[in-house]
Amino acid sequence: MAPFIPEEKITEIRDTCDIVDIIGESVVLKKAGQNFVGLCPFHAEKTPSFTVSPHKQMFYCFGCGEGGNVFSFLMKHAGISFPEAVKQLAERFGIQLPRRELSPEQKKRLSEREQMLQLNRLALEFFRHVLRKDELGGPAREYLQKRGFTADSAAAFNLGYAPPGWDHLLGYLKHKRMPVSLAERVGLVVRRQSGQGHYDRFRGRIIFPIGDPGGKVIAFGGRVLNEDLPKYLNSPESEIYSKSRSLYGLEVARHHCRSSEQVYIVEGYFDVIALHQHGIRDVPSVATASLIPCWCRAITSKYPSTI
Ligand code: ZN
Repeated sequence: MAPFIPEEKITEIRDTCDIVDIIGESVVLKKAGQNFVGLCPFHAEKTPSFTVSPHKQMFYCFGCGEGGNVFSFLMKHAGISFPEAVKQLAERFGIQLPRRELSPEQKKRLSEREQMLQLNRLALEFFRHVLRKDELGGPAREYLQKRGFTADSAAAFNLGYAPPGWDHLLGYLKHKRMPVSLAERVGLVVRRQSGQGHYDRFRGRIIFPIGDPGGKVIAFGGRVLNEDLPKYLNSPESEIYSKSRSLYGLEVARHHCRSSEQVYIVEGYFDVIALHQHGIRDVPSVATASLIPCWCRAITSKYPSTI
């Protein structure tokens, strides 16, 4: 049975999130007077007749007549139910909904997911500390400086450093009493082929945290300081990370994208940071290995010649 969601919670969510932000994640929106317009995601069209009103927090398509509020957009666009749309937004904006009784299996899955995100948060804390303050981070600080990256840029993108060695992070996570089996599932540590135990996946690498649009760390990318191979190593896919649905730098770039009405797609992590550092902030960059289809559609429809 669908959980009961009190009316005031629905209003709170609607007041907290901005429909332009939410729709803007899957549709390229352009300012037109007081509203935003874009190509309708619900029917094929070449000239935009899809309108979003920040003032009314509603959308409407003059082409196909589809319209509604932020919940109806998510329901229609993601093919989810009303309670799911409410839950998704509540989670994202940290709004507590009354707890539904979960089955033991659901409870287990939810708590594992939360712990996996917490593991990534702790790992980020560790990598960042090493890069900024630890003696072990010296070579990484030198490397970044040599490549012309400032401490401000490193801080803006939350860069870190995984020191060489087999169990620096593992030790830290154990010290924080986190379950090693989940650290393995999220890809922070790898099970030893022979014998018992685990070792750190990222060793001697600059660390780039990969966030979801809400800013939660869902994976990491790591680059060696020399020419060793593989030059880049990424977290494997997991319950919280799907490579084809993630864009590096999106959480930093998305607001600038909207105001500048532009987006640059670049290849590497460092390209994103270099552009940012050179003050190209209103024309941000989103680095990616593989684009998600809806972004491809949205971007190619606006910049057919750049892809
Ligand atoms: Zn339409």
